[in-house]
Amino acid sequence: MAIDDVIRTIGLSKRFGALTALQDLDLQVGRGEIYGFLGPNGAGKTTTVLLLLGLLRPSAGSVYLFGQPMRPGDATMRRRVGVVPEQPYLYPHMTAQEYLELFADLYGVPHRKDRIAQLLDAVNLLDRRHSRLREFSRGMQQKIGLARALLHDPELLLLDEPTSGLDPSSAKQVRDLLLDLKRRGKTILISSHILSEVERTADRVGILVKGRLQAQDTVEHLIQEVQPDAVVEIELLAVVPPELLEQLRALPFVRNVEVHGSILTVSLSPTEGKELHARLSAAITAGGGTIVQMTSRKGTLEDAFLAITETGALDWVPGVGAHA
Ligand code: ATP
Repeated sequence: MAIDDVIRTIGLSKRFGALTALQDLDLQVGRGEIYGFLGPNGAGKTTTVLLLLGLLRPSAGSVYLFGQPMRPGDATMRRRVGVVPEQPYLYPHMTAQEYLELFADLYGVPHRKDRIAQLLDAVNLLDRRHSRLREFSRGMQQKIGLARALLHDPELLLLDEPTSGLDPSSAKQVRDLLLDLKRRGKTILISSHILSEVERTADRVGILVKGRLQAQDTVEHLIQEVQPDAVVEIELLAVVPPELLEQLRALPFVRNVEVHGSILTVSLSPTEGKELHARLSAAITAGGGTIVQMTSRKGTLEDAFLAITETGALDWVPGVGAHA
C-alpha cells in the first residue's frame, strides 16, 4: 500500500442474497486526488461508498482509509471524512444557519459562525441563511448538503451526484470549490452521471459495470484508449478526386476516410506519431486538393463511458496503483 493512499480496497465484494452488487474491487485513491467513480444505474457505486464508510459489511475483502483498516464506528476516522449523499436529509423546519450550527456543534467545529459564513458564501447561499430549508430548491439543498459535509474540514470527501440538481453557474461554484479543496491536499471521490463535470475535475476515473471495475485511468488516457480516432472534417474547394482518396487511405496514420462531395471525414490514429493534422493537410495539398476548412473533434469521456458500458469495448483493469 502506498504511503499516500487515502482509500484502498482489496478484493472488496458485496452480495445481497443471490445478487453480487460488487465483485473484487481493488480501488486506490491517493492524497490530493479527485477520483471520478462512474457506472450505469445499479453498477454498485453507492454500495461501494457505504462499504467505505463501514455502513455496510463486506461479503469479502477489506477497506483501508488513511492507511489503516476501516473500523466501523471509529469516530476518529469518521471525523476525517465528509459525505454528501445523493439526497441529503435536511431538517425542513430549520434555517440553513441553524442546520449548519447544529452540525458544527456536533463536530466541535471551532469559530463556527465564521466557518458557516465562509461555506455559505462559497456555495452562494449567504443571503439565504435565515430561510427555512423546506423552502430551498433541490439544487440549493444539495449545496447545503455539501456545506455541511465540509464543516469540519475533512481530509476525504465522498460525493454522490454532487451536481445533478445544479444550474450551470452553481455547478461551476461546486467545481471551483472541489478544485480548491484538491489544491489544499484534500482527496475527493465523486460518483456522478454528469460526465462533462467529471471530465473537468477528475484526475482519474474508474468505471464500474455490474459490480466490476471495467476501466480505470486518467480521463485523457481513457478517451485515447477507447476512442483513439481523432476525427477531422475537411472541406475542399472541389469534389474530391478518386486518386486523392486512394492516396489518403494509404497513409499509415489514417484509419478511415469517408467522402461526401467536397467534404472529407478522416479518422486519425494518434498512435502513429505527432502533428497528424499538418501531415494530413500536406498530403491533401500534395495530392492536388485545396483545403477550404478543417475542423477536428476529440473524443469525450461520455464517448469512452458509452463504449465501455454499452459495447464492452474494453475488458481490462489497468492503472490500479498507477495514479500520479
Ligand atoms: P445508481 O447510479 O442508480 O445510484 P449505483 O451504482 O449506486 O446505482 P447501487 O445502489 O450500489 O448502484 O446498487 C448496486 C446493486 O445492488 C443493484 O442491483 C441494487 O439493486 C443492489 N442493492 C443495493 N442495495 C441493496 C440492498 N440493501 N438489498 C438488496 N440489493 C441491494
